[in-house]
Amino acid sequence: MPLSPTELDRYRRQMQLPGFGEAAQLQLKNTTALVTGVGGLGGTAALYLAVAGVGKLILVRGGDLIRDDLNRQVLMTDDWVGKPRVYKAQQTLAALNPDIEIEAVCEYVSADNIDELVQAADIALDCAFDFKERDLLNGACVRHGKPMVEAAMNSMEAYLTTIIPGQTPCLTCLYPEKPNWDRWGFGVLGAVSGTLACLAALEAIKLITGLGDPLLGQLLTMDLARAEFTKLRTFHDHDCPVCGGISHHPKKTANRQLATAAP
Ligand SMILES: [Zn+2]
Repeated sequence: MPLSPTELDRYRRQMQLPGFGEAAQLQLKNTTALVTGVGGLGGTAALYLAVAGVGKLILVRGGDLIRDDLNRQVLMTDDWVGKPRVYKAQQTLAALNPDIEIEAVCEYVSADNIDELVQAADIALDCAFDFKERDLLNGACVRHGKPMVEAAMNSMEAYLTTIIPGQTPCLTCLYPEKPNWDRWGFGVLGAVSGTLACLAALEAIKLITGLGDPLLGQLLTMDLARAEFTKLRTFHDHDCPVCGGISHHPKKTANRQLATAAP
């Protein structure tokens, strides 16, 4: 379906970007993005996907809002404390952009729901708070051949990469032994989770539209206390228990892979 006059108006400034235009906007409109862990990281990433015009967002997050979420969860409001976060995220994003569809799933990622969630999406953003959910999403993305933007942080450090099954290392290749990050154990500034969230949303937008160069096979590490950014090549473990058996298509671009997945 072509862009409506309202959509042409809403996205005019980004369609002016060289190499973007109406074609890229339509690719965004025809994409469903899954965001797991809609907190300081996932909520802010979802915000930028919503205003960019990603046609459908599936937001997955269990639990109720607590007051100490409010230093970083910018989709929330103080009067929502005690109520399920994911419905407030849906409400805020719908008010920002009524032209997109937003599905809210008030559950944590589990072995029971992950395959259905991933199959319904063209791309996933991994913004979960623990490696249990991250591993479940990674495994499902590999099984169903869906690209995944992997964003993680610990205190003032942040990590970002983009995974395309069969083409790049997967999360298990990167972290065969899981870092011992305590969900409650580190302090967090909203500006840090927000920085990483913007970069994660940008990775997704680049992958969907073909704009620029996503972080394929590269891990961007950020020490935000020192404003130091480093790009590392990631190691593809061909004996990886998760992605080791997947065939490789080095010529296939991310954009082409998405284009075949998106109707
Ligand atoms: Zn792997």
